[in-house]
Amino acid sequence: MDCDKCGGAAVTHIAYSGLHLCEGCFSESVETRVRQRVREDGLLDESATPENPDTWVVGLSGGKDSVVLTRVLHDTFQEDSRVELVGLTIHEGIEGYRDASVEACRELVADLGLKHELVAYEEEFGVRMDDVATEDPEGMAPCAYCGVFRRDVLERYAEQLDADKLLTGHNLDDEAQTALMNFLEGDPAQIAKHFDASLGSFDDREAQETFVPRAKPLRDIPEKEVALYAHLNDLPAHITECPHASEAYRGEIADLLRELEENHPGTRHSIMAGYEQLAEAAADSLRGGADDLGDCDRCGAPTDRDVCRKCYLVDAVGGDVPAR
Ligand code: SF4
Ligand code: ZN
Repeated sequence: MDCDKCGGAAVTHIAYSGLHLCEGCFSESVETRVRQRVREDGLLDESATPENPDTWVVGLSGGKDSVVLTRVLHDTFQEDSRVELVGLTIHEGIEGYRDASVEACRELVADLGLKHELVAYEEEFGVRMDDVATEDPEGMAPCAYCGVFRRDVLERYAEQLDADKLLTGHNLDDEAQTALMNFLEGDPAQIAKHFDASLGSFDDREAQETFVPRAKPLRDIPEKEVALYAHLNDLPAHITECPHASEAYRGEIADLLRELEENHPGTRHSIMAGYEQLAEAAADSLRGGADDLGDCDRCGAPTDRDVCRKCYLVDAVGGDVPAR
């Protein structure tokens, strides 16, 4: 089959657009969509200068998503010194899993010449995820602890690194799954949170004083295309699954979406188009302002309880609460 853009040999067929694309045209189409998303989200602060650049901290796990995101952003802005990229990698303490992906991160940042910060749960909280998963004092899935610890590290280190934006590599499948899960769980507050966590904080000055604004520039790119981009561009992505991965419900939703997308190409895009509007409306009507948050009695982090969820869980697993 020929590439619909240049007539070369096609390597893929994109069902939702109907296009057959060769290696070069496919990579270009991924890069164009990421750049378009960066523009549409207004990610680059127009007042940034080479002397006072916009600092974007990228959550870099070494998996395909964050590796592709880092590489595309680097290629886009390498000639533009108004943007400074910093990779932030978290080591959860998971034997036989994280060491290899940390290596992938090191290889990538060395190759691209980026600043890189590596943070381990063991040093931050005095615990390793392998032990948390075994002891499990709260009777929860390992990811429920791990997600809270990760969010805390990302937010704290984004602040310490003077980040203007915190970027993560969530792709279209991740986002459509979360949207559908939030919807099926019938929880508008969660839908509002999803909006605030990725789409709505750039214009909200009040929120910006409390949190570093977040962005997900890969959110228009399906997972399969991210994987193909990493493969075709020979990126050092690590693909093993975490041994504690346990989000069974998300797996069911992923299967459902896969089937829907196969029968009705474009389903994920249309879910997100409607969901983003819905989420914005939910955020407008349900959001308490940043003013409604107090400080955690233990660590000082913004929270709507006396002690934040992170401090509660760190205590439960017998760890140490880090100073903010
Ligand atoms: Fe943590 Fe769960 Fe991700 Fe493993 S799969 S790194 S336990 S959040
Ligand atoms: Zn706390």
